[in-house]
Amino acid sequence: MKIYKFGGASVKDASGVQNVAQIISAGNPAQLLVVISAMGKTTNALESLVDACFHKKNTLHEILSNLRNSHQSIINELFGETALMWVNEVENLFLELECLVDNENLQDDYDFLYDQVVVYGELISTRIVSAYLLSQGIRNQWVDSRNFILTNDRYRDARVDWTDTERVVTNRLLPLAQKNLIITQGFMGKGPKGESTTLGREGSDYSAAIFGKLLHAESVTIWKDVEGVMNADPKKFPDTQKIDHLTYNDAIELAYYGASVIHPKTIQPLKAANIPLFVKSFLNIDLPGTMVSDSGAPVSVPCKILKEDQLMLCISTKDFNFIAEDNLREIFAVFSENKIRVNIMQNSAIQLRCVIDNKENRHQPLLQALSNSNLEIDVIEGLKLLTIYKPTVNEKEAENIHGLGNILVQQNTGSAMHYVLR
Ligand code: ASP
Ligand code: MG
Repeated sequence: MKIYKFGGASVKDASGVQNVAQIISAGNPAQLLVVISAMGKTTNALESLVDACFHKKNTLHEILSNLRNSHQSIINELFGETALMWVNEVENLFLELECLVDNENLQDDYDFLYDQVVVYGELISTRIVSAYLLSQGIRNQWVDSRNFILTNDRYRDARVDWTDTERVVTNRLLPLAQKNLIITQGFMGKGPKGESTTLGREGSDYSAAIFGKLLHAESVTIWKDVEGVMNADPKKFPDTQKIDHLTYNDAIELAYYGASVIHPKTIQPLKAANIPLFVKSFLNIDLPGTMVSDSGAPVSVPCKILKEDQLMLCISTKDFNFIAEDNLREIFAVFSENKIRVNIMQNSAIQLRCVIDNKENRHQPLLQALSNSNLEIDVIEGLKLLTIYKPTVNEKEAENIHGLGNILVQQNTGSAMHYVLR
């Protein structure tokens, strides 16, 4: 069995869906489990729906009808007059979604509401693709991944309960997947009370890896609109090149520091089960792409990752005492409670500096919590974090770094150099 994962860009319009159907039928469909994301930018639109719902904005119904219209036009193009016959279920999902955002009882916990709402992007897209495959004579079974991926209730960043998930996947999903082409969703799971949960933005890669591991798949393929994993983002750096092979550790490091091709959590399950990952182009399926496994050499070209919109929290004690173990324990507890990941950190005797993504003002509650204590925090916004993995330090590289901004923090971790730039 093999796992395929198609992201939102691959199903952003009707011709995308047709292309996905072609790729599926070119494989051995009955031996595939296919994870499909929400279409195009649907998840972003659903995020603004959550926002409108939570803050009771009057844009709510407009967002909903735009979503309905964009999906309807893809459906019309794919099915024409026979649309109702094939995708009856989609209308029902929109009704459910409408009822959900109208239900005032669900609107006091933002993260909970978010998870109940955004999963509709994947539910709808997988229904459409599954129906289209059937209409083309490609037999498949649509399954709701919430029945299999069981998680805790850390909404928007749920943790998988591996024991329970393995049990249901083995008992319930494996027998189905051995016989049929399975179409399912990524990114979502089910919490302890039977509610929807999500694994974090772009989490479908991770779902594909979970299914890969638990179904003992031969391989996992992530189909992208790029040729494979590049050594830098071609939109930000000149002279980039495609990487043919990465070890699992290379891939984990690159994903962790922000190479956006692979979701950071994807590699661990695959490494544990020694399942190769392929990153291939859905625009040209004959290209070899990138392979991630431990059977080839580690990457040898320097890889550059530039993360923008970073901010640095400079944390010190109000009485100029040392930042010691007790402060650190308190600081990291607050980070964890607020679900904030530190990209890099550095400490001196009296100051701890942490660089984080500047996301939705998520650091504000953190500032509040810490300022109640004996700590003082300065925030520096508008920073970039440049990581050079496997650097060859030469003059040319140094020049390029200076071209990007002034270095505020510089760190060498052996396999990588990090620069915080302003
Ligand atoms: N649809 C979700 C997102 O856009 C999950 C995914 O695509 O991986 O974040
Ligand atoms: Mg997506």
